[in-house]
Amino acid sequence: MRYSRMLIPTVKEVPADAEITSHRLMIRAGLMRKVASGTYTYLPLGWRSLLKVIAIVREEMDKAGAQEILMPAVQPIELWQKTGRDVDYGETLATFTDRHGRGNILAPTAEEVVTSIAANEISSYKQLPFNIYQINFKFRDEFRPRFGVLRSREFIMKDAYSFHTDADSLNETYKIMYDTYSRIFNRCGLDYVVVEAEVGEMGGSDSHQFTIPCENGEDTIIYTGDDSYAANLERAVVDPLPKEKTKAKIPPMEEVHTPNIGSIEAVCAFLETEPKDMIKALIYRTHTLRESIKEMGEYEAVHRDGWDRWVGEPHWVSHYLVLVRGDHQVNEEKLVQVLGGTHVGLVDSESEIEELSGAKVGFAGPFNWSHKLIIDHAIAAMAVGVTGANKTDYHVKNVVPGRDFPLEGENVIVADIRYAVEGDKHNGKKLLFKKGIEVGQVFKLGTKYSKKLGAKFLDEKGKESPCVMGCYGIGINRIVASAIELGNDKNGIIWPISIAPFEVLVTSVNQDDEQVAKVAEDIYNQLLDSGVDVLLDDRELRGGAKFKDADLIGIPVQVTVGIKSVAKGDVEIKLRAESKSKKVPIERAADATIELVNSLKEKLNP
Ligand code: ATP
Ligand code: MG
Repeated sequence: MRYSRMLIPTVKEVPADAEITSHRLMIRAGLMRKVASGTYTYLPLGWRSLLKVIAIVREEMDKAGAQEILMPAVQPIELWQKTGRDVDYGETLATFTDRHGRGNILAPTAEEVVTSIAANEISSYKQLPFNIYQINFKFRDEFRPRFGVLRSREFIMKDAYSFHTDADSLNETYKIMYDTYSRIFNRCGLDYVVVEAEVGEMGGSDSHQFTIPCENGEDTIIYTGDDSYAANLERAVVDPLPKEKTKAKIPPMEEVHTPNIGSIEAVCAFLETEPKDMIKALIYRTHTLRESIKEMGEYEAVHRDGWDRWVGEPHWVSHYLVLVRGDHQVNEEKLVQVLGGTHVGLVDSESEIEELSGAKVGFAGPFNWSHKLIIDHAIAAMAVGVTGANKTDYHVKNVVPGRDFPLEGENVIVADIRYAVEGDKHNGKKLLFKKGIEVGQVFKLGTKYSKKLGAKFLDEKGKESPCVMGCYGIGINRIVASAIELGNDKNGIIWPISIAPFEVLVTSVNQDDEQVAKVAEDIYNQLLDSGVDVLLDDRELRGGAKFKDADLIGIPVQVTVGIKSVAKGDVEIKLRAESKSKKVPIERAADATIELVNSLKEKLNP
């Protein structure tokens, strides 16, 4: 390709919303342009890089025995109603009604469609296992699209789904996918870590997340110094805290008047106490959908908030009072696990809170509560605390967990239901925190989808069972952005050669000089003939501007052809990642470049 004919609109200035390095550089180097919040057009350089990632992913998936298919990005909402994910996915799921009044969704992932394929096509154990994947657009109406393509609304995902007769077979494929992911990220030149992850909206049991540690990541990786444990923030399991000791006997509870003082901060200031000595009481609810009613089709979409959706009484709502320390946050993923996988929602309507707690918002406490109590371990470890009095404008002091409200009994669960914080331990070892970007995740789904969508098979004895499933996702765009987060300096991008838009940039510094232009052109042609992915900067521009662009777009091998060195019979070869260049005789230039390219590639894919 010739630079003079390519659309590579490099710029100095970036829009204000480009907050992080990769986003800024993807704009500055002319890789992409924003179309709307969270959607981008990939220009030639950006798209070439994405295609290279796609090629690596495809190659490794095929090698692992997975088969590529293509599913529609627009899917009927009825399929999603069958699994309840039309509700569980919440507002992130984009929907529309077509001209015939039919409901559709824009696929954020494709379990429903792929499982319905298995439901229609699989009948016998002899057809299992198999693993199918696609590389396709996904749409998620993210609450806050940001960081360029790291959290966009439309993105490209590789999503694979495997179907099995049993857990052993799933475990085998899960391991193969885990290893395949490791190879993919190595080949893309990314330093990654694998952490235990929560299953979230996917459902299922085990899950691992592949994360690129870097400052601008939105994820938090939590690990022990000896590397015996690593998990993401949603998952990280913390040891129960040691029981706090007190010397004095705690006096009986005492009500205090706290007029209009409801927030943790305000109460702390007023009572001269600290958030860690507060017992925060939050009301959650779950709904249980009765399968039989679902099958009878007695439900109808009314609202999109997920709670008032079923008409009549086809669901049950249960309420829970959740207690965490004032300085801790409830981890809803953990709460879901404690409640056996049921979707949970925070009760936030003021009237409902008042009805359930007997007090206005900010004054709930664990007294006279007739529903289930879910108590974080850290509360059970407190010696004494302050909490709401279930009475508007009142709090209670000298509250002793276990004495003044139960820590055991039929309606009480004490569990780990909060996010880990600095100071927490896992298996006695101190937890450390670091930021990262999630680039891929693998899940053991089990039978959640196959049961609901009827993907069953007959075993050797003629017994019918639901398929056991796994699913495996990779964010293609995030790989590109992560590579830039890891590879850059003040002048621009430093690409790993495997996913760079081009492998080599030949710069003709003095394009108006016939000899220079010819030498550059010759090297370019020899490289092309040898199958090297090369860009020739043949623009009629001054050298300084060309060098700036060269460093900005970051092609890993730079061959520079200038008047002075050509006069001596040389050209200069330099790696973008290094500052020193090497003089090479013109006749050797193409061969030396090819050797360099091959050694860089070999390092990533030995
Ligand atoms: P996140 O927690 O970051 O929202 P997720 O866990 O919901 O991601 P998955 O459902 O596991 O995402 O999707 C598989 C992969 O798709 C992720 O590992 C990530 O690389 C990519 N991905 C997910 N959401 C986005 C997004 N909004 N923009 C770009 N890539 C995304
Ligand atoms: Mg994920």
